[in-house]
Amino acid sequence: METTKRVINISEKFGSWIVLNKQGKQVLCQCDCGTQKLVYSHTLTNGRSTNCGCKKRKESIPVGANFGRLKVISDAEVKGKRGELLLLTQYQISTQDAINIILHHA
Ligand SMILES: [Zn+2]
Repeated sequence: METTKRVINISEKFGSWIVLNKQGKQVLCQCDCGTQKLVYSHTLTNGRSTNCGCKKRKESIPVGANFGRLKVISDAEVKGKRGELLLLTQYQISTQDAINIILHHA
C-alpha cells in the first residue's frame, strides 16, 4: 500500500517553521527566530522538526535559572569566538554585580 504523501504548501507553518520554498525532498524553512534552514519534508510532516533548535535550547536553560552563584538574566544568545552559544548570566553577589557569560548547553 502506498503511503499518502502529505503536500507541503509555501508559507505553511510547522511549529516555529514557516515554509519559504520547496526544493525536491527538502524544504527551505524559516524559524521564528529568523534562522533559515533546509529540512527534509518528512521531518516536518511527522513533527520531528518544529524549529531550528532555538526553542529546545531556551527550554533547557530558562531565564532566572541558577548555576551556583550565576543566574541567567537574558535568553539572548551570544556567539562565542568559536561559534559556541553563550548565555548572559550575572553573578549573585550582593556587593557587586559582575556580568559573565557561561557556556550554553547546545
Ligand atoms: Zn529558531
